[in-house]
Amino acid sequence: MKNEKAHLLVSEILLILFFALTFCFSCKDQPQPVDETAMLCQGDYYTEAEGKAKLDEYGKNYKTKKDWQKRVKKIRGGILKGAGLDPLPKKTDLNPIIRDKRTYDGYTVENVAFESLPGVYVTGSLYRPAEGTGPFAGILCPHGHWNKPEDYGRYRPDMQKRCATFARMGAVVFAYDMVGYGQMGEFGWIHKHPQALKLQLWNSIRAVDFLLTLNDVDGKRIAVTGASGGGTQTFLLTAVDDRIAVSVPVVMVSAHFFGGCVCESGLPIHKSATHETNNVEIAACAAPRPLKLLSDGEDWTKNVPQVEFPYIQNIYRMFGAEDNVEYTHFPDEGHDYGYSKRQAVYPFLAKHLGLSLDGLTSQDGSVNEDNITIEETQKMYVFTDDFPLPETAVRNNDDVRW
Ligand code: ZN
Repeated sequence: MKNEKAHLLVSEILLILFFALTFCFSCKDQPQPVDETAMLCQGDYYTEAEGKAKLDEYGKNYKTKKDWQKRVKKIRGGILKGAGLDPLPKKTDLNPIIRDKRTYDGYTVENVAFESLPGVYVTGSLYRPAEGTGPFAGILCPHGHWNKPEDYGRYRPDMQKRCATFARMGAVVFAYDMVGYGQMGEFGWIHKHPQALKLQLWNSIRAVDFLLTLNDVDGKRIAVTGASGGGTQTFLLTAVDDRIAVSVPVVMVSAHFFGGCVCESGLPIHKSATHETNNVEIAACAAPRPLKLLSDGEDWTKNVPQVEFPYIQNIYRMFGAEDNVEYTHFPDEGHDYGYSKRQAVYPFLAKHLGLSLDGLTSQDGSVNEDNITIEETQKMYVFTDDFPLPETAVRNNDDVRW
């Protein structure tokens, strides 16, 4: 009797062991579900001290150009995978619409739309030099989150001045709306959508494609520059798209701040089960291509001269390309792409894109922004009562078919 009980007990233990082992092995075979929320790095994800410590930690992992290039692969892959763009969607016909040309003092403006996916219209303004046939350099200008009616997106005066001046310097410039901004917001798109980052990064890649369809654009001289959320668009596009030759992210690159909007950090582009990075390393993926950071004393870029820039400069050093990276810091200024910041960008893009400042330089050495015509928002809309949004157009984020 006693033996029988003991035998039963052993059988039970063996059975439990068998199931436990089977469970363990099946777990091992199954890919573990990744908690995507835990992978998000949003807003002030780190304190300033933590952000700097992280950079110090990352920096220990690569001493040579080769080490860094391996790291770039990881970072780039992490962005595309995290954004849901790996593999990249099929590139479909852009079917560009370019219309309603206005000629001003030294430049022209046209209203534009193209399809980044079938029926998904990206709207924007195309600025060109008034004279010459090119080929011209191309500059993409994402606008950032400015959304007051009088200071809104690509329509705001500082955007129009920047784009018009680049065109006067000899570039074809495309300013394009963020998802849900401008006219497309009126049609039903919203900006604060969980997938905004995915579509916005895709739209930026397609904006490069759009520039390359233009006969007067030199595909070897494509730059991108934007401030704040437009700065995030600038370094994300530069990191994933080698066609960007020059990159100027303004008031955004920070070791501790990851961007506060869903279009910047709402998808797990900074962290996965196998890697972790930040926007400093993402911006550094530009190396050895020319890169300029602009920073100020009032936001998360206040430590750029001591923390972020030296880190990026060290990476450029590995390429022997220190001359290609620089920064301008504005300790007494705030979060904008204002006059003084534009003045710091014009010569940098002139130098690296082969643009001309002849006839635009004032006696004090500044680049003249006089006689630029600031247009009304409605005038910059591509779709009108006489030229309506096509019936087949997608009108909101949830109807996008990838
Ligand atoms: Zn956003």
